[in-house]
Amino acid sequence: EKVIYLTFDDGPGVYTPKLLDVLGKYNVKATFFVCKTAYPQYMKNIVDEGHSIAVHSLTHDYETIYASEEAFFEDFYAMQNFIEEYTGVKPTLMRFPGGASNMVSKKVCEGIMTKLTQSVTELGLRYFDWNVDSNDAGGATTATEVAMNVINGVKNRKFSVVLQHDIKGFSVDAVEMIIKWGLENGYTFKALTMDSPACQHKPNN
Ligand code: ZN
Repeated sequence: EKVIYLTFDDGPGVYTPKLLDVLGKYNVKATFFVCKTAYPQYMKNIVDEGHSIAVHSLTHDYETIYASEEAFFEDFYAMQNFIEEYTGVKPTLMRFPGGASNMVSKKVCEGIMTKLTQSVTELGLRYFDWNVDSNDAGGATTATEVAMNVINGVKNRKFSVVLQHDIKGFSVDAVEMIIKWGLENGYTFKALTMDSPACQHKPNN
């Protein structure tokens, strides 16, 4: 079985309803690593439509969250509570802002990612990074570029965790192309769960 886990960070945003419509059209389930945005009501739609909701960050502010373990967990639990308030779901899946391998945190607190990756695991949480980057936060600026980056990344893998951001319209516009290609080529789309195979970067700090 070839599996693609589509994941969306930093939302919900204005494009999230459009994304949910596309996913619904093909009955594809995805995973949303959410923040505290101006559109919290869409978190309920995410859950009601059968997708996985997961903690990304309340503030997404590297200086704040990576200052110390205490600071990180203060932000984390506030976001977990915020999600629970809106959806009734208390997520135990999470993704570190910048990923577990981020280098930004090194300037804020030496060794913090090594500590945090251990702590969250000990607390029974599960963090996911990605092995396919759509590059929608980097060089890609059109839906076609995003779709090509994802398809090229997924092509030779049996198991892909794809990084996208649903706060970017052009990235959301790429999703239908990605789904069509995936279904035509024998892939199954799934939402991440506590039992999904691990996809974790090695900490660099
Ligand atoms: Zn992020």
